[in-house]
Amino acid sequence: MIQLRDTLTGEARPLDPIEPGTVRVYSCGPTVYGPAHIGNFRSFLFADVLVRYLRYRGYRVTWVMNVTDIDDKIIRASAAAGISTEALADRWTDRFLADASALRMTTPDVLPRATRHIDEIVALISTLVERGHAYRTDDGSIFFRISSWPAYGRLARLDADELRVGQRVEADEYAKDDVRDFALWKAPKPNEPSWETAIGPGRPGWHIECSAMSMAHLGESFDIHTGGIDLVFPHHEDEIAQSEAATGKPFVRTWLHCAHLQMGGSKMSKSTGNIARVADLLDVGVSPRALRYLLISVHYRQAPAFSDEALGAAAAAIDRLDALLAALAAYREDRDDDATLDDALATARSGFEAALDDDLNVSAALAAVFDFVREANRRIDARSLSTSDASRIAAYLRELDSVLGVLPEEEPELDAALARLLEARAAARAARDWAASDRLRDELAAAGIAVEDTRDGQRWRRAAEVARG
Ligand SMILES: [Zn+2]
Repeated sequence: MIQLRDTLTGEARPLDPIEPGTVRVYSCGPTVYGPAHIGNFRSFLFADVLVRYLRYRGYRVTWVMNVTDIDDKIIRASAAAGISTEALADRWTDRFLADASALRMTTPDVLPRATRHIDEIVALISTLVERGHAYRTDDGSIFFRISSWPAYGRLARLDADELRVGQRVEADEYAKDDVRDFALWKAPKPNEPSWETAIGPGRPGWHIECSAMSMAHLGESFDIHTGGIDLVFPHHEDEIAQSEAATGKPFVRTWLHCAHLQMGGSKMSKSTGNIARVADLLDVGVSPRALRYLLISVHYRQAPAFSDEALGAAAAAIDRLDALLAALAAYREDRDDDATLDDALATARSGFEAALDDDLNVSAALAAVFDFVREANRRIDARSLSTSDASRIAAYLRELDSVLGVLPEEEPELDAALARLLEARAAARAARDWAASDRLRDELAAAGIAVEDTRDGQRWRRAAEVARG
């Protein structure tokens, strides 16, 4: 039974999907005005591991991640670049998808864009105005009236006084009834994109897009909503208020919030200038698998530290997994199957699943995986496995990796020229022609194939990833 700790109630509760067997998940996605930094991907990859684990457990999952393609930052960046907001958003959406793919994030089932859901946003705002939860100001902007929604502040556990003091006050060119009220619809300003709609010309505020798009794709009530901890207030507080005020139904069953990545001892964000962009890290040769490992390997409610040491430790962990897979692929032993292997596999699997069932405790799940790696290496060294046992262990690791996403791609067959070099080297060693063997090893290394001599004969693996780690 999967237990998840819900931010709203503060309780760990069993996953209980609205439609049995199907889990509907919404994640707040990127605002596409510049390169994503690894702090963004900490949150996106947490949702990725959640979705992967739900699928591993046999649930059908619909995963929606929005793309914010209109807001103040996008308008400013497009003006600076001398291109349309749409062209700028297209450019950075493509870049986001490239980074996501490099970090092996599962592609969400739907990646809705705000500017393509103006009709749904307008319909939602109209309902809020009709029900008295929103009002229009003189310039044609529309605000949510927080005093109409007594439950406001529950998610962030704020009382009314804290709200007054702590609220990040929006640009005051819009005249509001109450300083706490937030913009649903922004009246047009010169040189800004706007849409002609039934509620007048303008553009949507940020919060309303997530309510409109999540409900459009997942229904008025859905199972899980994820985001970074910084989105609890005001973004998710506002999403709850406007969604439930419009529908009269509970919006989300379980809220999950991911802690920030720590870098140089402070929260990473674009505004502090403490940036590490995914693309920049990969450009300097950081292994994308090691980066993914680092970002997912700490429990989502704890803040992992990002540093060279942490990246080095992640690369070393990946290397141990790669080395085991290579050893298993090369392993040959004509003997009976290992009678105790089933127990070892079952122990590892139950440890892995118990950890992830417990509020997605990925660090404990990885500990179970590495206990098993030690166990498998011990059996390889002891030659207690049959050839088919070795294949079973490899298949088993691949199965767990459907959740983690850190193992190398399944090896494609070596191309014929490299296969011939390997054969020639094996022949040279059989003939004890060490000079030829060494020369062939160098040739293979130059082609990115690392060769190691073992009791099972020569064992090879692609060297590029290892060297880059
Ligand atoms: Zn959102």
